Amino acid sequence: MRQVRPATEGWKQKKDSEGRPLLQFASPKRGKPPVHLADLTPDERVAKVKELGIPGFRAKQLEKHYFSHWTHDPAAMTDLPAEGREEFVHGMLPALLTEVRRLETDRGDTIKFLWKLHDGALVESVLMRYPGRITLCVSSQAGCGMNCPFCATGQAGLTRNMSAAEIIEQIVRANRLIAEGGLGGKKRDDHSLERVSNIVFMGMGEPLANYARVMQAVRVMVDKEHGLGMSARGITVSTVGLVPAITKLAAEEIPVTFALSLHAPDDQLRDELIPVNSRWKVDEALDAARAYFDKTGRRVSIEYALIKDMNDHAWRADLLADKLNARGRGWVHVNPIPLNPTPGSIWTASEVPVQNEFVRRLNAAGIPTTLRDTRGKEIDGACGQLATTEDDEAAAALTPLEV
Ligand code: SAH
Repeated sequence: MRQVRPATEGWKQKKDSEGRPLLQFASPKRGKPPVHLADLTPDERVAKVKELGIPGFRAKQLEKHYFSHWTHDPAAMTDLPAEGREEFVHGMLPALLTEVRRLETDRGDTIKFLWKLHDGALVESVLMRYPGRITLCVSSQAGCGMNCPFCATGQAGLTRNMSAAEIIEQIVRANRLIAEGGLGGKKRDDHSLERVSNIVFMGMGEPLANYARVMQAVRVMVDKEHGLGMSARGITVSTVGLVPAITKLAAEEIPVTFALSLHAPDDQLRDELIPVNSRWKVDEALDAARAYFDKTGRRVSIEYALIKDMNDHAWRADLLADKLNARGRGWVHVNPIPLNPTPGSIWTASEVPVQNEFVRRLNAAGIPTTLRDTRGKEIDGACGQLATTEDDEAAAALTPLEV
């Protein structure tokens, strides 16, 4: 049976002192982004407003402007006293993301944003309209330390963790754009509230390696009174499989959708595809996923990039089905994604008949399985393609930071 070994071409995977793929868990030290309303709990916000010499009840007004009207422009906040308004608003809602560029595809239904952070770090988010929902794929780190050889983001390593507010600001900016009519595809007779309804933590970064900030961001997303008021079920946290963090997530009592990037049912191959498998093996990751279902009742999703002659064999589909069925029925579904091309990679997506057979075998074994409709390939905005290019860097250098 044909089995291509994982290999990279045109770039070198970073290695640690023992010659294994480098894993970066700690964020390199860089200047912290300014503290923003969305980094704070409701009580902390009131305290900070008072520190600035303003009555505490004004925190609520700011929340309304930012989380419901998606603005941080003092001129729009006429319910705040004119005197000292600018200073106050900038103190609470400092500029965090500067838009460097915006690429569109699918007739304007899919938009990729390139953002520059206060320290020049670059991140991307991808906005997608589907029938009945609008999904934003957000970044949680600049770069990523997990070093998966088939993912473009991993190749550059980790620049730094993003703050909670930098994560939230991606949503606020997307909502503002949608409100201005900037996202295509709205049907004439559709009068529904136009805003991001679903979040996937599938942009740059490993969300569970930036746990505290990602959780603060999630709390703000779901908070109806002091945040964006989104539904937890519409938020998907996707991970390479940091088992202790999965256990912690299950205990949070926020029923977000949980997705595990498995990509191989056997340790021999997964060790090479997902370097973090050296810490937590396939069975441990699957046990943690099953425990997530037990704790939350939320059906778990298994992501599986189908790579030609690498992980797409019929026997691997069967092994995957066996491992999932061994942990019970009805708790999981599988979401294969034909591999998206990344620069320098020799790998390609599985052939269509092979994809179909992989899906068929899982379904036949009683595991609900659907191929993911992947968007944004034309703008390098699809899963695994988010990485900054020399062009991006050049454009970013010419873009003054917003203040
Ligand atoms: N770090 C997280 C989230 C980011 S990636 C994680 O790994 O889960 C979101 C999904 O895209 C993951 O399942 C990831 O494995 C997958 N992916 C990465 N590179 C890909 C590629 N080239 N083609 C298709 N999917 C890819």
